[in-house]
Amino acid sequence: MIPPIASKFVAGETSAEVLEHTRTLNEREVAGILNLLGEHYDDPSDAAADTNAYVELIDDIAASDLDACISVKPSQIGLGVDEKTFERNLIEIVDYGANRGVFVWVDMEDHTTTDATLDAYEALVRRHGGGAGLCLQANLKRTREDLERLADAPGKIRLVKGAYDEPDEIAYTDKDRVDDVYRDLLEYMFESFDDGIAIGSHDPDVIAHARELHRTHGTPYEIQMLTGVRTDTQYELAARGVDVYQYVPYGPNWFSYFYRRVRERKENLAFALRAILN
Ligand code: FAD
Repeated sequence: MIPPIASKFVAGETSAEVLEHTRTLNEREVAGILNLLGEHYDDPSDAAADTNAYVELIDDIAASDLDACISVKPSQIGLGVDEKTFERNLIEIVDYGANRGVFVWVDMEDHTTTDATLDAYEALVRRHGGGAGLCLQANLKRTREDLERLADAPGKIRLVKGAYDEPDEIAYTDKDRVDDVYRDLLEYMFESFDDGIAIGSHDPDVIAHARELHRTHGTPYEIQMLTGVRTDTQYELAARGVDVYQYVPYGPNWFSYFYRRVRERKENLAFALRAILN
């Protein structure tokens, strides 16, 4: 059982709990991106177990008629074993989702995984004609080129600032610089992508900029935010007709995710404490 202090950021331990959470979101016009917490597996049986869990989750989403998709981590479904295992499991999940109308996002992990993740994703969407989306990180210097490479590929891209501490040689490490680069990349995406753009950010300036770019270019876009972060804003944007998705983590491996949220922002601990005291 998840203690109340962590339940602001994690929907529960079971698929029943995450589906119930998603139902409440859907009532407020917010869709769910469901993520079973797990990463860095080097044992193929762990990767296979989470692949099966995603397949079952896709069945649950399709059967419950919820407005929801899923997001998987490469190292959760086999990249830590080898590239072939990752590709095989990813294809299995995306094929299964495509047959049941459930979209599949691929999260991006640290820079050592970028090439393999991108190659597997690109081959898959070009072969399947879509059904999946990929996260790219504005802090990596290579991202502009990666966007150019994927501009004519089917599928969607989620642009985030980047959650991993990366070396200076390959990444912008100054926050203001990352914010500027994010704005530039967003402009490029609104000009060059037709299949829609996902903005994975809580930053009010980024969201205002996206709205402005949408007015200029007309490209469809969606805002994606995490469970427990700026929830009122998520509901307000959805009420104003913006497509909003909440990334909803769940599962028995909740502790390390909760710890990360608290470590990246100390206010989150106070926030979680306030939530259980009120
Ligand atoms: P920031 O500039 O960090 O914050 C802007 C404002 O948002 C803050 O001032 C604060 O008001 C609020 N805020 C932001 N974060 C928090 C928080 N944790 N708690 C409370 N308030 C907060 N990164 C990856 O590297 N790979 C991924 O696959 C990936 N997927 C993501 C998916 C989604 C849907 C989201 C929202 C983020 C994802 N990230 C991923 C994380 C991302 O890279 C950033 O680390 C994170 O979103 C913080 O950046 P920001 O754009 O929200 O803005």
